[in-house]
Amino acid sequence: VRLPPPALAPDAAAELRGVLGADALRDDHRERVLHAAGKGYPDLVAIRAGHPQSAPDAVAYPEGAAQLRAVLEICSQRRVAVVPFGGGTSVVGGVAPLRGDQEAVITVDLRRLAEPLALDRESLTVTCGAGLRVAALEARLAAGGLTLGHFPQSFEYVSVGGCAATRSAGQASTGYGRFDERVLGVRCTAPAGELTLAPVPASAAGPDLRELLVGSEGALGVLTEVALRVSPAPRARIYEGVFFETFAGGIAALRALAQDDATPTVVRLSDEQETSMSLALAGAGGVKGAAGRVYLRARGYAEGCLLVLGFEGEPERIAARRRLALALVGRHGGLAVGRTPGRAWAAGRFAGPYLRDDLLTQGVMVETLETATQWSLLTSLYRAVGRAIAAALRERGTPGRVMCHVSHLYETGASLYFTFLAPQQEGREIEQWSAVKQAASAAIVANGGTITHHHAVGVDHRPWLADEIGAEGVELLRDLKQRLDPAGIMNPGKLLPDRDGA
Ligand SMILES: Cc1cc2nc3c(=O)[nH]c(=O)nc-3n(C[C@H](O)[C@H](O)[C@H](O)COP(=O)(O)OP(=O)(O)OC[C@H]3O[C@@H](n4cnc5c(N)ncnc54)[C@H](O)[C@@H]3O)c2cc1C
Repeated sequence: VRLPPPALAPDAAAELRGVLGADALRDDHRERVLHAAGKGYPDLVAIRAGHPQSAPDAVAYPEGAAQLRAVLEICSQRRVAVVPFGGGTSVVGGVAPLRGDQEAVITVDLRRLAEPLALDRESLTVTCGAGLRVAALEARLAAGGLTLGHFPQSFEYVSVGGCAATRSAGQASTGYGRFDERVLGVRCTAPAGELTLAPVPASAAGPDLRELLVGSEGALGVLTEVALRVSPAPRARIYEGVFFETFAGGIAALRALAQDDATPTVVRLSDEQETSMSLALAGAGGVKGAAGRVYLRARGYAEGCLLVLGFEGEPERIAARRRLALALVGRHGGLAVGRTPGRAWAAGRFAGPYLRDDLLTQGVMVETLETATQWSLLTSLYRAVGRAIAAALRERGTPGRVMCHVSHLYETGASLYFTFLAPQQEGREIEQWSAVKQAASAAIVANGGTITHHHAVGVDHRPWLADEIGAEGVELLRDLKQRLDPAGIMNPGKLLPDRDGA
């Protein structure tokens, strides 16, 4: 991997080392490469080709909020951009080391900001350092019979602060809620000062400032501590499969579940294309073997859509919820096919993305994008975005396969998660990706979807932020940034669109 020489001025580096210690500011090749990109498709294409789009001039590892404060002060004075780095799993360019109009850029890796860890069992809350990995937190909670209930597909790597800064949603968000719904309190170090918002259960003290920090993507400051609501760990878990003849039929059933107080903990309804791909990948030992294609075909479901339902909690409570949920999906034409599909999903729930590397090696473009809207618009949004992706791929001369699932339910609507595969346009991979992204995003905006349900804005979604929150909304965020980060060092090129609209 080829990188430009580090551009951090020697006196700035010396000052930072004075605060952090000699070993906690690194500018060796390995550290710079490891922090050069996140995990989006453009990141992977560039880094696999040996040419990351950018690289930090150095990587800092502050050990506590006091060191971090000093780092931000030096960087503000020396015109050095700061990129907060949690687990580094952003798929929207969130950790790209862009320097904006600053003279150098450092990545601030937050893994040493993992303390304190204070559990209040009586209140069911935990406070922890923002650099703590969610998997490590979950293990600590599990030992005490508790759970955070946050399981994004990137669970193995993500940090608490990264999930708060991006409003992440896990696979069990329908049951446990999104990450932002779990955040009760936040401590944030911004270049202009500290903000501390206590974990009170509710408050009428003016607008909720937590909401300004959750989802701030490192553009306002660094979240150093997060207080979270936790839940008793479930004593029972049941994951099972239901088939629907059509995706629209399955969506109608999901709406009934969400609005009839019968929401399962986990929901994943795949469209016809994703279902047939899952069946093919499951092979004879998976859904296909257990439920039996012959049986499904006889019942008219051979080309249908698979819904995985998961119930977690106390055995007697989930039994009641499950009865109600299965009765509702049955009334909407769902055919229950037992636990094998659910077990297969649970066994592979974090494994799918690893296929990306093999597919890239085979010259296959594989990318995902997500949105959400009201129930009344969901089917039309699904069709419009699917059509836009397929058409953009065809126009590039690389027709592909477009798949979708619904996996996060709300009383008023749901999310859509698209996956698409196509032959890569060799040498023009980013151009090809960009054409599809533009087409899909235009279709999302035109059909009432949010530009992102849980991946955040990062670099990739900036051009459409004003479509969602309006020009005044963007200016308000700019004013807030100006107040907290007057020198403009925090994560340039993310979240906020450029002033010229580029
Ligand atoms: C294979 C794969 C599967 C994924 N599945 C899901 C999924 O199921 N659900 C989902 O929601 N997302 C998913 N993602 C996206 C990603 O994991 C989430 O956005 C996650 O919340 C990022 O956490 P992180 O700790 O890795 O943050 P990072 O990638 O390190 O950072 C994300 C953004 O937050 C900023 N940031 C990080 N830490 C802080 C902090 N302490 N203070 C201020 N800003 C900070 C960064 O600067 C960056 O802009 C997936 C990604 C991959 C690669």
